[in-house]
Amino acid sequence: SAEREVLTWELFGTASRALAQEIADSGYRPDLILSIARGGLFVAGALGYALDVKNLHVMNVEFYTGVDQRLDMPVMLPPVPNAVDLSGAKVLVADDVADTGATLKLVRDFCADHVADVRCAVVYEKPRSFVKCEYVWKHTDQWINFPWSTEPPVVRRENQVLDA
Ligand code: 5GP
Repeated sequence: SAEREVLTWELFGTASRALAQEIADSGYRPDLILSIARGGLFVAGALGYALDVKNLHVMNVEFYTGVDQRLDMPVMLPPVPNAVDLSGAKVLVADDVADTGATLKLVRDFCADHVADVRCAVVYEKPRSFVKCEYVWKHTDQWINFPWSTEPPVVRRENQVLDA
């Protein structure tokens, strides 16, 4: 389908709140939230407030190692979270979307070696994902436009008219 799933900033607010409610209702009380940069940072921040979890960690996962160097599998980029920080914890992994699920599988497997419990929360999950997330706001098979990545990066403007 050529249709796109559009997440506006306003709908993201609704979605992240509903996702948090789902997690709270399940009885899961994570010790820390592990966000997958960059899209997962927004989700992790919103869930952190909604679930009253202040312990947030970041993991960088990329499908690219350099310009035009596409990999078959995602890789963790340094700095990788300290295993001691995760040790014995109940971890909530937060990301924007599980598409193939390769990214979340990598993170989940990394955590499984160190933590007491690891569960995944995503705004969207696609049917082909081979990781089935415990918490999903919406299932879709369409390409998703996220509010944080729909616009291209800003560029410096020349000859600006500066206000007082
Ligand atoms: P994976 O295939 O490992 O589950 O997804 C890897 C990454 O690809 C996601 O974290 C996300 O950054 C990007 N991605 C996958 N599907 C979509 C999509 O429908 N829309 C956008 N904007 N990014 C996507």
